[in-house]
Amino acid sequence: MGAVAALLLAAAACTPAENAKRPEAKPEAAALVASDGAYPFKVGSLQAYALLDGDNLVPNDNSVFGVGQTPDAVAAVLAVAGQPTDGLALSIHPLLVKDGDRTVLIDAGAGAAFGDKAGKLAASLAEAGVDPAAITDVLISHGHPDHVGGLVAADGALTYPNATIRMSQAEWASLQANPEMAILVQAIAPKVQAFAPGAVVAPGITAIALAGHTPGHTLYEIASDGQRLLYAGDTAHHFVVSLAHPEWAMGYDGDKVAGAARRQAELAALAASGERVYFHHFPFPGIGRVRQGAEGYVWVPEG
Ligand SMILES: [Zn+2]
Repeated sequence: MGAVAALLLAAAACTPAENAKRPEAKPEAAALVASDGAYPFKVGSLQAYALLDGDNLVPNDNSVFGVGQTPDAVAAVLAVAGQPTDGLALSIHPLLVKDGDRTVLIDAGAGAAFGDKAGKLAASLAEAGVDPAAITDVLISHGHPDHVGGLVAADGALTYPNATIRMSQAEWASLQANPEMAILVQAIAPKVQAFAPGAVVAPGITAIALAGHTPGHTLYEIASDGQRLLYAGDTAHHFVVSLAHPEWAMGYDGDKVAGAARRQAELAALAASGERVYFHHFPFPGIGRVRQGAEGYVWVPEG
C-alpha cells in the first residue's frame, strides 16, 4: 500500500466522535510560527512581531565604531565574543505591535535607501499576515534613513497609506531641516503628528525622549498586563562593541559626546533594572536583556 493510500485509510477510520475528542486546534497559535522575516512574541496580552528589513555590514575601520580608537582595539573586543573582526554586522528590524484596534509599526526600515541590503520589510509584514493598509500608526524613533526610508515607496507613494506617522517634535523639526530628506518630508508631512516628550502615543505605548543619537531620538515603552518592553531605538548599535565600550565615540551619533553619555546612562539603567529591551540593530530578533559584564555590558538574547 502506498503512503498516500494508507493516510487516506487512516483518515477514513476516524469517526466524527474521535475527531471531536481531539484537542481544539488553535488557529492563532498555528499562524504564529517564526519565519525568516517575522518573529512573533508577546508583551503581556499584546501580539508583537520583530520584522526583518535587512542587514548592513559596517567595516572595522573606526569610521563608525570606535571612532578615535584603532581597528585592532575593536577587533580585540569582537574576538573575545567569538565574532568576525573585519566587519560589524547590523540587523535592521522594525517592530510591529497589535494593540487593540491599532496596528502599530515602530520604525519603517530603510526602503530603497540601503540598496539590496534592506527593503525586505514588505515581505516580512506579509509573513506576519499584515497588510500595509492595515497599519494605523507608524512610530518613528528618529529620522535616519534606515528608520524612515521605508515610509515612502520608490515612486513617492506612502507605504502605509492609512497610518498616522508619529515622531517627537524635536525629531520632526530636525528632519524638516535636513535638505537630503526634502522629498520624503514633503511626502509624509500630511500624515505626521509630532508629539511632546512623555506622550502616550498608542494604548500602552509611551514615548520617552532620549536625545543624543539625534536631537529628538525617542524610545518607546510598551506595557500590557504587568509586562513591559522597551524599544530602545539606536541607543546602542552593535550587540558586542556598543555594550563592551559604550563610552567609545560612534560615527552615527549626531552629537558624539551626548550620544556616548546617553548610551552609558541607558545601558547602566537597563543593566540595573534587568528590563526586557528591543534593539533594532542587534542580531534578529533583537529581544533580550542587558547585564553588567567584566568589561562594560553583555547582551543576553531571549530564546
Ligand atoms: Zn539605525
